[in-house]
Amino acid sequence: MYLKAVELENFKSFGRKTRIEFKKGFNAISGPNGSGKSNIGDAILFVLGPKSSKTLRAQKLTDLIFNGGKKGRPARHCRVSLIFDNTDRMIPWDADEVVLTRYVKVSDSDPEGYNSYFYINGERARLQDFVDLLTHARISADGYNIVKQGDVTRIVEMGSVERRRILEEVAGITRFDQEIAKAEARRRETEENMRQVETLLNELESRLATLAEDRETALRYLSLQESLRKAEAQLLYKRIKKMRNELEGYVRNAEETERAIEELNRKAGELQVKYEALRKRLREIEDRMAAETGGEVASISRQIDEMRIREAEIKIRIEGLQDERESLVRQIREEERRRKEVSSGLKKLVRRLREIAEELE
Ligand code: ATP
Ligand code: MG
Repeated sequence: MYLKAVELENFKSFGRKTRIEFKKGFNAISGPNGSGKSNIGDAILFVLGPKSSKTLRAQKLTDLIFNGGKKGRPARHCRVSLIFDNTDRMIPWDADEVVLTRYVKVSDSDPEGYNSYFYINGERARLQDFVDLLTHARISADGYNIVKQGDVTRIVEMGSVERRRILEEVAGITRFDQEIAKAEARRRETEENMRQVETLLNELESRLATLAEDRETALRYLSLQESLRKAEAQLLYKRIKKMRNELEGYVRNAEETERAIEELNRKAGELQVKYEALRKRLREIEDRMAAETGGEVASISRQIDEMRIREAEIKIRIEGLQDERESLVRQIREEERRRKEVSSGLKKLVRRLREIAEELE
């Protein structure tokens, strides 16, 4: 960034529009005394130091407006533009050229009053925009970057205390520069960190791809495992159903056998009653036989024989029924045992089915 040109209009001794070009590096302006050399410096200060007129050689701002000289008419306004080369973007404004313009106009109503305007590249701006832009670009009218006519003599001639104050002020600017250097170092550090983070990010991205593949495989494994578990559960369910049917069959059989045993018991009871009755009658006849004699004996003896035969028959039938009952009881026991087996197997299967259901969940 450097000052390319200054444009003046009605500024102090410059009644006409004047453009003064500067080259990069060292520039000198020469001319007779009172020809307006220092006024050019004032023009620069006028734009750079918008807050104060004390650095300017003027009592009030309106003194800066061209007064018409000896013969001419005084002007009502003055305008100064500083044209900066900004190809390096030192000034935070996105343009290769930045034109800062200050315009002061005498008020129409009050001859003592005036209005002050600011422009950045022709756009109307506020005083604060101007201050911000100049601060960011580190352009200042204060301090000792601008040494005016007589300044050097003044510094040489001033007392040691005042001179020391000036030196401290200059040192303050140096401190400011050091802070800028520090901030610069921090910025470089941050940039380095950012590069490292970027490298890390790239690594992570490539790892992410591998992880995505692994994830696909894992998901496939999980879905296959789930199908397997479902198939196992279906199988178990079918087996349980079959065993339950079997169990119901056993229960039904046991009931039937129990009913058959009851029936046998009832028949055996009836026969027992008949048997007891026969035996009673036999004893009665035998008693009568002991008491009586004669022709009756033969018939009684026949009756007795018949009765003995029937007695033997009933006994055999009772024994047969008992055998049958015992075999039924054995059958019931066997079925009971088998039922217990099936029932405990069933419990195991149901437990396993519950486990699988939980796993699937
Ligand atoms: P030196 O060599 O003596 O330093 P210089 O070239 O620096 O002289 P300046 O101080 O820039 O001269 O200019 C002084 C001239 O500007 C004076 O002639 C003065 O009349 C004139 N001048 C100052 N203010 C105004 C104004 N408002 N309108 C017109 N002319 C002005
Ligand atoms: Mg001068």
